[in-house]
Parts: sequence; C-alpha cells; structure tokens
Amino acid sequence: MSGSLSQLNLELVAASQVRDEAAEFALVRDSGRVRLAVAAADGARGVLGAFEGDASSGVLVGPLSARNAAALRSRLEWLRPRPLGTRTSAGLGDRLGLATPGHVRAVRAVGGKIAPIFPQQSIREMARTQRTPTEVMDDATWGLFGEGWKGGTGADADHLKTTEDIDATLPVGFTMFTIDPSAHVDSGADEDDLATLAAKVAALPWKELEDGEAALRQRYVGRSFAVEHLKVAFDEAVVLRAAAKYGKAVSHVAKMSRHLLKMAGVRPVELEVSVDETDTPTTPAEHYWVASELRRLGVAWVSLAPRFVGRFEKGVDYIGDLGELETDIAAHAAIARHFGPYKLSLHSGSDKFSVYPIAARLAKGLVHLKTAGTSYLEALRTIAALDPACFRAIYAFARERYDTDKATYHVSAELARAPLAADVPEADLPGLLEHFHAREILHVTFGSVLKETGPDGKPRFKDRFFELLRNNPEAYADNLERHFIKHLKPFVG
Ligand SMILES: [Zn+2]
Repeated sequence: MSGSLSQLNLELVAASQVRDEAAEFALVRDSGRVRLAVAAADGARGVLGAFEGDASSGVLVGPLSARNAAALRSRLEWLRPRPLGTRTSAGLGDRLGLATPGHVRAVRAVGGKIAPIFPQQSIREMARTQRTPTEVMDDATWGLFGEGWKGGTGADADHLKTTEDIDATLPVGFTMFTIDPSAHVDSGADEDDLATLAAKVAALPWKELEDGEAALRQRYVGRSFAVEHLKVAFDEAVVLRAAAKYGKAVSHVAKMSRHLLKMAGVRPVELEVSVDETDTPTTPAEHYWVASELRRLGVAWVSLAPRFVGRFEKGVDYIGDLGELETDIAAHAAIARHFGPYKLSLHSGSDKFSVYPIAARLAKGLVHLKTAGTSYLEALRTIAALDPACFRAIYAFARERYDTDKATYHVSAELARAPLAADVPEADLPGLLEHFHAREILHVTFGSVLKETGPDGKPRFKDRFFELLRNNPEAYADNLERHFIKHLKPFVG
C-alpha cells in the first residue's frame, strides 16, 4: 500500500512540497513541531527505508534528524552542495542554524543571479557555537528544503587551518574549502630591514617549496610584470619581504591542497585561499607573488581573499579611505584575472555597504562575498522586537564580556562609548543595532551569549533565544530578507 501526503491530518508547509519519481516529500507541522513527511508512490515503498520515522499509516513522518537530512540530500539532487566555480557568489553564514529560509528569500528577491552558499561556517565558529560540521550542513538542508529552493548551493568549510579540519568537513559534503594559512604569515616582515628579511628567507622550508633562494631571486629580483593597468615591479626588498611574509603560508596552502585533493578523490571540490585575517595589508606585489608561487606548486583555487587596505571590521561598514580601497581592489582584481581568472573574496563582508558597488564594478563579476555574523545580529533585532527584556539582558551581558571576547576579532568598539543597558528606553533598544559600538559589542560576544549558564547550570539565554526565533520564523526571515537584499543587490548589476 502506498500513501499520499494529502491523506495526512497535518498541516503541510506548502513551499516544501516536492516529488520525484518514487515519492512525495514535505515538511509538516505536528503539534508545534516541524517534521518530515515522505509518501512513497505505488510499488516504491523501499524509498522509505532510507528515512527514520513512523510509517505505520503508510506515510512516513519523522524527525528533522541527521539521517533524514542525509536521505533527503541523496534523493533530491538540488539539495546536494556543488562547486560554484567562478560565478559571482555569496556565502551567507548562519551561526544559529535558523537563517537559511531568510537567506533563500533574499537570493530569490534579487533574481537568483548570485550563486549562493548556504552551509558555511568556520571551524572557529563551529567550536564557539558548539555545532558540528554535520549540523551546519543539515540546518541548511532543512532551510533549503522548507523554502523549496532548487537553485543549488555551494558549501563552504571556512577558515580551515589544519589537515584535520579538512578531514572533519570533507565527509559531510562540503564542496568549498577555505584554506587559512594566517598562522604561517609573518606580518612582522613589513617592518624588517633587508638583513632580517634575508635571514628569514634563508630559513624558509625550501624543500617543501620545491625551490631555492638563488632560483627565487632569479625569477623576481629586478623584474617587473605587466598586469592590465599595473606594472608589478620586484626589487630585492620587495621579493625578500613577500617571501619572508608569505613563504611559509604558500607552503602550507600547497600542503593543504594536496591533502584535500587526495582525500576527495573523484569528488569535485574547490579551494579558496584566505589571508584576510592578518595584521597588515597584502600589497599587489605580494598578491602577485603568492599567486605566482602557488601556481608554480600546482595549486588551483577559485577565489582568494587578500587583506585589503583599511579596516574590514565585523558587522559594520568599511573604515578607511574609499579612494585608497578602490585603487587596492582594482589592483587585486587585475591580478586575480591575470592568474586565474579567480574570484576576489571579500571576507568580513557583512554590512560593507560602501564597498559593494566598488567591488562589484572592479571585479567584473569575479567576486565572492562572505558574511556570517550579521545573521546573528538580525536574530537579535528580531528578539529586541519580540522580547525587549531578553534583548536588554543579552546586551548587558555582552558589555560585560566584550573586553575578553574581542581578542580574536578585528574590532575597535569602545565599551565607554556604548550606552549602558539600563539607560536605554525600551523603544530605543532595536536602535542599538545601528549604534557602531553597541553593534560590534553584540557581534563578537555571540559565543558567550549562547554558552553562558545561570546559577542553576542551565543556559542563561540560549533556550529563550532559540524559542523566540523558532516560534517566530517569519519575523526572523523577514528581517534577514530585508537585510540581505541590501548585501546582494549591488552584485547583480
Ligand atoms: Zn575571513
């Protein structure tokens, strides 16, 4: 006997309803909880075997579990992440696991011209939010499925630092691997004299670099290379500085890339190189040097995130001279076209509204926008409207945590310049999300907010936080959609 979803006495989530040759699938609401329903076509009951749940009525109704997410991905190919290549793309990171529906609506609203990455989280943020790579993937799967998104997605295992990070994310189905060699970047080289640089270069891992100092000098010193409008010139100091600063990082990326390709086997994967989280900017000559050396070592990548001039702080607009940034992006984009073409990747891309039109124009579509924390801030905006007291308590706690939590982020907010929680009238609470100092304070403390326990040992904010968002999914999705349209529109031209 086979079943049909219409025979269920449960409310169907209409957007999720979909069928393939063997079954019908949908999300259903079952006394306040969302569940998966699968109805097999005649003679195809075997389909249900991959899913878990109660199938005694003829239709399987089961939990939004890892097994059911994996079974759905294996049946419905549009739920399976794929490499995106050099298409204009945006990564919409979701630390809470509830943002994908709003992200999907924003991508739809701008016309679906941007290749989206819904599952995206850095190893650091996974640790901070106590989520596993599988949970990151599955939360996105349920969001895509619930919204009926068939436009495909990439999946970015972000800021991977070790081969173990690759091993933890590759089997889960991630397709984009962002290699972060920043621990191997020597930003101090910017200030070194020639003798110090020479000593650093002599100590590089030459064997791993499949190179020698004399050969390096021969390839670069005294030479200049034409790249579109640029002339990238290398004198001895420029070469030694680039090699001292990035030599170990190049070797590390090559090692990570080889490991990834070996472990991936025939599975298609793509690589991003990110050196954005370093203390000093990547000069165009250094970008040229890194790209040229990675290519010499046989590394292939689809995008690269330089550390641009000025400050890309979390969750706020660009800080610095936009004219200088424009010149910088133009140079990096030209180098990316020259060696790839590959995309320029804008990390810490949340809320950089003054940068988007510049980057979109100069990169000519070869651009990847990466955002993460701003979706958490939209969750806070949602909570501020639904439960002002809860939001006020979170903000007061965030102020207490800020000086500790800011250590691993590039932020410049000052506690003294953010209002005290008790001083803000209720009607002005959402306005804290537009206040530079309050906004950064709220942004970098998310891990502490979610982890903090009260005297009873229970989470102090987390349960209420998730309860509010889960019970008001439309309110959160509306805020995300509105906010992300502003992020994506400049890139659709
Ligand atoms: Zn980054």
